[in-house]
Amino acid sequence: MPLVLIRRSSYRYEALKPLVFTMLDRLGGGRISSRSRVLIKPNLLAPATPQQALLTHPSVVRAVVEYAVEHGARPLIADSPAMGSFSKIIRESGIQEAIAPFDVECRPFQESMKIDIGEPFGFIDIAREAIESDVIINLPKLKTHSQMLLTLGVKNLFGCIVGYRKPEWHMKTGVNRPLFARFLVQLYQRISPAFTILDGILALEGEGPGKRGNPKEVGLLLGSDSALALDRAVCRILELDTDQVPVLKAAAGLGLLEEAFDIDGLLEPFRSFRLPKTSPSLLYGPQSLQRLIRLYCLPRPVAEADLCRYCGACWTICPAKAIDGTTRPLEFDYDRCIRCCCCIEVCPHAALHTVDHFPARMIRKFMDRLR
Ligand code: SF4
Ligand code: SF4
Repeated sequence: MPLVLIRRSSYRYEALKPLVFTMLDRLGGGRISSRSRVLIKPNLLAPATPQQALLTHPSVVRAVVEYAVEHGARPLIADSPAMGSFSKIIRESGIQEAIAPFDVECRPFQESMKIDIGEPFGFIDIAREAIESDVIINLPKLKTHSQMLLTLGVKNLFGCIVGYRKPEWHMKTGVNRPLFARFLVQLYQRISPAFTILDGILALEGEGPGKRGNPKEVGLLLGSDSALALDRAVCRILELDTDQVPVLKAAAGLGLLEEAFDIDGLLEPFRSFRLPKTSPSLLYGPQSLQRLIRLYCLPRPVAEADLCRYCGACWTICPAKAIDGTTRPLEFDYDRCIRCCCCIEVCPHAALHTVDHFPARMIRKFMDRLR
């Protein structure tokens, strides 16, 4: 049965390191040996400082690296950032300095392999290291996510899709959030990390997962041998139903929530965590009706002209090519926009957010009342 460890913690390294070590020991980290190829997969979304709470904290990364090195392994830290150069992310995040004493490779994923993750997706491109490593240590950050409500252990593995293939998957799944959630769950099943340690010490609440969110002191470190069980434990802490979190709803649909899990630690509710505005998934009826729903019932991205620096990050990543970068202010083609929120996620100046039409506000109120 999967085990979830819940501990109170700060980033003070003298306290954090023994906590991470005992967590990994308890979860079976002893199987890491000098022959193990260990992949450490933090959340390295974009350049940001530890205080901005966008990325896995350098002390958490360092403690895990130190554990792997002490077991004789030569770990690799890798991710496929949504925005910015990998070297800038490693520098600004403090990870470069934190891991400097250790012999550890740190680089972006480069090469992909075609791997079957099952119907309806079939063979997809996944980072070679995520498939060929003996042990994967998944290091998500506790953050809100405007499209998926939260980004936790399962969602963190989306970074194992290399570079431009990520927006491609947003485009393929389109406005169909349940389908995208199912994609994430099947990807997680295939990658199957041995350990997941979630940095929920300084989390991100509000309109995350990018710079629009707000850092929030939660003070929790969670560890598990199942990212899915860990995500379920976080939802209990935040007092969310599994139905509210698309990834967990998709996992339930695949019969993956039937398995119970053990909890070691205090599962106390954390009530003051601000969630993002997300809309219910509304994909009914013929295409023409779905188009109207998309246009008038789903929140749409807008840019705040006084904050925008026209850096191009949003229109470069937009999988639907729905942002016109030649206009001032930016213009969005909402007919093309698939509401994936990638633009909001990567905007380095927090200039993007979503707004609702009147029908969307009414629907949200109605759904909130049903809860
Ligand atoms: S909205 Fe943000 S990402 Fe887009 S051009 Fe402006 S500053 Fe850059
Ligand atoms: S405009 Fe933003 S939300 Fe719409 S498709 Fe492009 S990246 Fe996604």
